[in-house]
Formats: sequence, C-alpha cells, structure tokens
Amino acid sequence: MSDTLALLNPATEALIVDQPLATRDDADAAIGRAAAALPGWRSMAPLDRVKLIRRFADTVAAHAEELAQLDTANMGMPIGNSRWCANTAADVLHYYAGAVDKHTGSTIPVAGGVTMTFHEPLGVVGVITPWNFPILTAAWKIGPALACGNTVVIKPSELTPLSTIRLGQLALEAGLAEGVLNVVVRTGPEVGWRFVENPVVRKVGFTGSTAVGKRIMAGCADQVKRVTLELGGKSANIVFADADLEAAAASAPGAVFDNSGQDCCSRSRVLVQREAYDRFVELFIEASRGFTVGDPLSTDTAMGPLVTAAHRAKVEGFLDGAEMLWTGEKPAGPGWWMPCHIVAPAADSRLARDEIFGPVAAVIPFDTEEDAIAIANDSIYGLSGSVWTRDANRAMRMARGVDTGTLSINSNSSVRFSTPFGGFKQSGLGRELSMEALNHYSELKTVFWAG
Ligand code: NAD
Repeated sequence: MSDTLALLNPATEALIVDQPLATRDDADAAIGRAAAALPGWRSMAPLDRVKLIRRFADTVAAHAEELAQLDTANMGMPIGNSRWCANTAADVLHYYAGAVDKHTGSTIPVAGGVTMTFHEPLGVVGVITPWNFPILTAAWKIGPALACGNTVVIKPSELTPLSTIRLGQLALEAGLAEGVLNVVVRTGPEVGWRFVENPVVRKVGFTGSTAVGKRIMAGCADQVKRVTLELGGKSANIVFADADLEAAAASAPGAVFDNSGQDCCSRSRVLVQREAYDRFVELFIEASRGFTVGDPLSTDTAMGPLVTAAHRAKVEGFLDGAEMLWTGEKPAGPGWWMPCHIVAPAADSRLARDEIFGPVAAVIPFDTEEDAIAIANDSIYGLSGSVWTRDANRAMRMARGVDTGTLSINSNSSVRFSTPFGGFKQSGLGRELSMEALNHYSELKTVFWAG
C-alpha cells in the first residue's frame, strides 16, 4: 500500500477513515492470489461449493446491519434502503449458491456419436463497481462468478469501498479459501485498469458510467477479453391519461428521487399524455412534498445527501436556466444536500437527454402512443422504464415498443434477483441476475464423442 484517501460522510462531511490505497503491484498480487486459488475452487465438488457460498450468504445476512451502516456512512444512502441492499446482497448469494449444480450442459445426438456441452469457468474474473449501490452491484457479480467456479478480484469505487472491503473479510470468515475473493481499492485508471491489461484476468464485469464502460470494452478488445457492462440510463416513466393517475403520481417521486437520483434505473424522464399533464404534475408535486430529505440514519428519511460535493456541483450544473415546476426543501448545515427538482425541459436540452444522476425529474408531454414510443426511444440509453395505463393491449404494445432492457407496467419497480437485468443500446452489454448471468461468467465447451 502506498498512500491513503480521506473518506468523508456525505451527510456530515466528517472524516470516516483515511483509506489505504492499493498500488498497481498490489492489484497484480491480488490477481496472482486469485489465480493460485482457482484450481481448488473450480475443481471442488459442486455441493461443497454450494455449501461455502451459502455460508458466505448467511455470514453476509448476519452482518447486514453492519454493512448497511457502512454504506449509509460512506455514501449517504438512507438506512432503510441500505438495510434492504445488504439483505438483498445476501439473498443474491443464496440464489447463486443454489444455482451451482443447476447450470447444466446438454447432450445432443449427432451423426457418428454424441455431443456434450459443458459450462466451464472462465478463470480469474475482475469486477469493477460504482459508488451508488456498493454492496448490491458487488453481490450481483460475485454471486454468479463464484457459482461458475471462477475466482474474483473486485475493485469497488474508491469513494465507497467500505462495505466491499468488509464483504471480502466476511468471505474468509465464512470459510472461502484465501484468494477466492480479493478486494483492491484505488481509483479506476490506476488499479481497475490492471484488470483490463493483465492477461491472467479473463473477464471484466463492469458497472459504471457509459463513458468508462466504452473505454473498458475497447481495452478488453486487444485480448478479446470477456466483458459485461452495466452502464447509464435515462429511463422513461410513461403515464397515459387513462392510467390511475393517483397511483402513478404516488410512485413517481421514489422512481426518480430514490438514492438521491443516483440510480441507473432512475425514471428521470416522466412522459405524460398531454390531456393529463396539468393534473399529473399537480399530483406529482403533492406526492414529492412527502418525500423527506434529511438524516440518512433516520428511518423516516426518503432521501439523503449526494455522494460528494463535486457530484452535487455537476448535478446543479444541469439546472442553469431550467424551467422549474417545483423545488423541494433541503436540510441546513454541513452535508452535500440537494432538494428534489421537477423541471419542464426543452425536448433537445441536456436535462431531457443526459443522465443527470441526481434528484431531478424532467416532465415531458406527449400526444399519442407513437409519440411516447418515439420520445422514449430517442435516447442513447435503454435500461429501464415504466408504462402506466388501464388499457391492457396498449400496455403490451408499449412494452414491446420501448427499446429497454427492463420495463414495468403500472409499477416503477425494476429489479428482482431471479429475473434478467441489463441494458439495450449504450446502457450496457450482457445481462446480470437470474440464471442468465451464469452464461456471462462461463464459457460453453462442446465435446464430441465418437461411437
Ligand atoms: P464510473 O464509470 O465513474 O466508475 C465506475 C467504476 O469504474 C469505479 O470503480 C471507478 O473507479 C472505475 N473506473 C473509472 N475509470 C476507470 C478506468 N479507466 N479503468 C478501470 N476502472 C475505472 O461510474 P460511477 O460514477 O462510479 O457510477 C455512476 C454510473 O454507474 C452511472 O452512469 C450509473 O448509471 C452507472 N450504474 C449502472 C448500473 C447498472 O446496473 N446499469 C448500476 C449502478 C450504476
């Protein structure tokens, strides 16, 4: 270790810890430990691997409160959400423990013999995660990677590494051999990039911004290294005039302001059919008034601060000259607070098109189904989204028409660990969660047996 990074609590600006940082040599050493642990892990009897991942999941669940407190202190996530994330991380590990011996190949009769397929582990997997859902994004990748027989080196965001560091310790406490799961902390270009460069790493599982994801993909091309990308979004929450407007409006604040808008699935474009526009905006503002911004340690808090002062300044930059429909309240005193905002942007403005990653909802009118699909699809992104309508046929037409990886009907909920998640277009490559993720952490081998 060479130097340190001061980690500050975004709600108080108080120092949490001077985090020691890894060097590129430390990253290579961690990759070496993962390579050394690989033969034992991949050749282990499947049921033994099931039991170890399950014990890891149980250990995470037993420490869920501690992990939640770390994420709340480190990134300002309200404690209720942090608890949900920590417990869901344990559930994800349980899910993949159960998947170890169920990701089976097939036997295919062919002329002159039989062909068998096997899902082989890739080897050492490098995982790079963002700061906005530290423990969840880690578990989404560690779970399927370990289940498939790979060993893992993970680099969490340097801004919010604390829960992932603890996750690495809990893996050892649960009985995983040293080297099976390794954690290194530093900024991406220095340490994360070693996962791209070092040929021992056979795959990079990346969650983060589209800009960095493109660089990772280009870097991996040289070795045809496997890559999964979970990137940015600008998802549409589409409300038709025939919808239950009260239900749609009650759900809309959480859909965009949850996690202070620092959510890849944030439905930050609210498209509203013109005849219901005024009524919906009224209801949306009313519902947003109840979306309390404050102390992340209080279970009454819906939204905490933003992750850093620099990120808040970036988000505020989007608001210059914006037509504001409503601005909420924020606490006084130290902390990187920002109120919720509801804006009416020009169609081609940055507010309407770019991922803001802050508590800013852009409300945009539309006339017909075709308009709504055209506006929703006029984006480089395609991660998530919702449609609110009482017309079942329209709901299905919209679900098929919007170019997005995940879409919810009469709901703003996107993610379940047993269902695939990932992006269309520049929102990503590959899928996470569900049995589908296992295909991205293994290589399909075909064996022909003559006879
Ligand atoms: P980011 O791209 O800045 O950083 C993500 C990770 O990549 C961090 O660990 C960072 O240190 C590392 N990194 C940065 N440059 C690197 C480089 N050159 N080489 C290797 N690693 C490098 O993203 P962020 O600001 O931490 O997170 C916010 C972004 O993540 C948003 O765009 C959000 O939409 C996206 N995100 C997507 C999902 C999803 O599932 N699609 C989930 C959460 C967040």
